Amino acid sequence: MAGGGLLITGGLVVDPAAGRADRMELLLHDGTIAQIGAPGTIDRAGAAVHDATDRLVLPGFVNTHTHGHANLMKGVADRWTLEASLTNGPWLGGARDPDTMYLSTLLGAADMVSKGCTACFDLVYEFPRPTAAGFAAVARAYADVGMRAVLAPMIADRSLFHAVPGLLAALPPELRDTVGRFALGGGDETIAAVESIMAERSKLPEGISVAIAPTIPHHCSEHFLRQCVDIADRYNLRIHMHIAESRLQVLAAHKLYGASPVEYLDRLGVLRPGFVAAHAIWLDDKDLDLLATANAGVAHVPASNLRLGSGIAQIRPMLDRGITVGLATDGANSSDALNMLLATRLASYLSRAFASPRNRWLTAAEAVRLATRGGADLLGLPRGGRIEQGAIADFVFLDLNNIDFVPLTDPINQIVTCADSACVTDVMVNGRFVMQDRRIGPINMADLRERVRGAVERLRTTITDARALAARLEPQVVAFAESLLGEPMGIERLIASSCG
Ligand SMILES: [Zn+2]
Repeated sequence: MAGGGLLITGGLVVDPAAGRADRMELLLHDGTIAQIGAPGTIDRAGAAVHDATDRLVLPGFVNTHTHGHANLMKGVADRWTLEASLTNGPWLGGARDPDTMYLSTLLGAADMVSKGCTACFDLVYEFPRPTAAGFAAVARAYADVGMRAVLAPMIADRSLFHAVPGLLAALPPELRDTVGRFALGGGDETIAAVESIMAERSKLPEGISVAIAPTIPHHCSEHFLRQCVDIADRYNLRIHMHIAESRLQVLAAHKLYGASPVEYLDRLGVLRPGFVAAHAIWLDDKDLDLLATANAGVAHVPASNLRLGSGIAQIRPMLDRGITVGLATDGANSSDALNMLLATRLASYLSRAFASPRNRWLTAAEAVRLATRGGADLLGLPRGGRIEQGAIADFVFLDLNNIDFVPLTDPINQIVTCADSACVTDVMVNGRFVMQDRRIGPINMADLRERVRGAVERLRTTITDARALAARLEPQVVAFAESLLGEPMGIERLIASSCG
């Protein structure tokens, strides 16, 4: 083949499907891999050449679950459980105008790209409901950095306090009266807002698509969930939900529906191809069978699950059933740095935390496959995460001169066990470099730092009241959840303590 395109030469290219790395040349045309060949075998006439000598070249990491609105909240939490985090949700994610949402998302996109990520699934939150302007601002941020993104308005019609059976009644009377007035309500207005976003979807920038995220099953009334499914059906959207993220969520589902969250969603017809279950920690075999039968996928979010003490998801039984699994970081409110290399390492290491034979552990090649190809499949990216003719030209380049690759023994093993973001030199999306020599095209770091500092300063005053109320509620919510620790579940995803 001759005439135009970009030829990447000299690189050690990782094929996630084959689980191997070989010296190869890649000829790129129109954002895809046009030709793959041994060094020196591709006709370079007319092609620009990018020398990737001393680089490990692999399909870009795909972050299958994050929240752009949360990136200004890096480092705010220490010993927070999921329920503590949700209690703080109104100030963690609220009071954002479109400019602040743009900036928060831009910061996260820059963070992800700098760590080798080329695409993400962002569950976009606005309080009390999404707006077309806020959603457009998030889309613009990803497009400006050059990342691909699937954006899903994250919505509900019940607050935490109205969703969890017994929680409101467990609060002291004065707090109960205060949060009792916070009923989200307005489900129809929220649905109307989502409809207005969908009506504008053809105006989204290239590389940005939409999905829908009714956030947590019991935070949505059945009527509201059915409205979400109807929107998904009409616009052919992926549905992405937080599923069995904490023990309390599963207990709540059993109390409310007499079923696990997955059984409940199956009953309502929510599970389908393209459905993404995020976290998916507290699931039993029957739940996994239902997900597999429905051709649903799982976003595995190991750093967030550890940081919030939610538990350890068991991935091998999912893979056994043919469930598509991708890896994710979560938002900065739950897992502060958006680091897919860390997610890959944790996925590998945590697969060894269960008392199971070592052939049940994830191999390094499997972990890299989940982080690339698995994620691309969850986002619906055609031929993403693959090294083959016609695959999308999204790549991360790692520096083989970095100490993490010295000595170079097994590149795929060392991606999982050694590499950190300092190894990432270049990132390419759709055949174009969005980061080159560690510089992200449109991002001036000094300017970004200053804008973020100003935004956080402004937010500090607008969120003061919500933050003060959350500080009073949080110990009550955590105590309520801890009081239920003794309730039988039949599954365990936390390490049993042998001493106090
Ligand atoms: Zn989430």
